[in-house]
Amino acid sequence: MITCPHCGFQAPDGMTECPRCGADMRPAPRERRVPNIPKRPQDPLPERPASDRSSGKISWPLILLGLAIAVLIFFTLLKT
Ligand SMILES: [Zn+2]
Repeated sequence: MITCPHCGFQAPDGMTECPRCGADMRPAPRERRVPNIPKRPQDPLPERPASDRSSGKISWPLILLGLAIAVLIFFTLLKT
């Protein structure tokens, strides 16, 4: 038995609409919300690591320049 959420009429199982008031008695709206939630967080995830990688590539030349300058200063200090 399915109880109509609108008028409280008890309809037999399998009924999609209340025979008394015509209200929708299917639990479909709840099932539709569930699959949409896990799909949305998965899509933006691959985009965020790409931006992190681009920012990582920009910092690498700066690190190499800093290392080269440090090595030059180190050798100049050794010579003197
Ligand atoms: Zn009803």
